[in-house]
Amino acid sequence: MHGCSRLFPFDNGAAPNNGIEVVEQMNAGLMESGFIQQADTIEELAEKLGLPADALVATVERNNENYDNQEDPDFNKEPFRLSPVRKAPFYGIRNTGMLLATIDGININSSMQALREDGTPIEGLYVTGNDSGAFFSGTYPNLVTGLACGRTMTFGRMVAKQLAAQ
Ligand SMILES: Cc1cc2nc3c(=O)[nH]c(=O)nc-3n(C[C@H](O)[C@H](O)[C@H](O)COP(=O)(O)OP(=O)(O)OC[C@H]3O[C@@H](n4cnc5c(N)ncnc54)[C@H](O)[C@@H]3O)c2cc1C
Repeated sequence: MHGCSRLFPFDNGAAPNNGIEVVEQMNAGLMESGFIQQADTIEELAEKLGLPADALVATVERNNENYDNQEDPDFNKEPFRLSPVRKAPFYGIRNTGMLLATIDGININSSMQALREDGTPIEGLYVTGNDSGAFFSGTYPNLVTGLACGRTMTFGRMVAKQLAAQ
C-alpha cells in the first residue's frame, strides 16, 4: 500500500486506485535507495534494518502464532486480515504510524459548531477535518478517493464563508 492506494479490484468490480505495476515501479526505486531491505532470514533482515534481531524474530513468531490460531488478541484484527510471514525472501522497511483520519472526535452540527455532551452548540467554536467527529465512524470508503481531504477543505471553507458573512 502507498497512501490510500488499493491494488486489487473492489468487490463490485471497480478498478483499483493504483495498478500493481505502478507499485512495483515505486518499490524498485525504494529498493535501490535502500528504503526497502530484502533478506533470506528474519535475523538478517533485522540487521539490515538496524533492529534488535531477537525482538523482530519474537514479533514474527507471535504474528504467525496468531495466524495459525486465526485469532489476534494483540491488535484485534479480523481473521481474514491475518497472514503468515514464513517464506523467504523477507522484505522490511523502517516506518512509523501517521494519523490517516479519525473515527471519533468532537461532535459538530451542520454549521460545524462544536457540541456539548447535551448536544447544544458552543458559541464561537468551530471544528473541521480530523478533529471533527464521527465522519468515518461507520466506514472509510476508499472508492471515494479524496474524501478525507475533500471534506476537510470543504467544511473549513464553509466555516470561513459563514464567519465572513457575519
Ligand atoms: C498516508 C496518508 C494518506 C492519505 N491519503 C489520503 C487520500 O488519498 N485522500 C484523502 O482525501 N485523504 C487522505 N489522507 C487523509 C487526509 O490527509 C487527512 O484526513 C487530512 O489531511 C486531515 O486534515 P486536517 O486539516 O484535519 O488535519 P491535518 O492535515 O493533520 O492538519 C493539522 C495541522 O495542524 C497543525 N498543528 C498541530 N498542532 C498544532 C498546534 N498546537 N499549533 C498549530 N498548529 C498545529 C499540524 O502541523 C497540521 O498542519 C491521507 C492521510 C495519510 C496520513
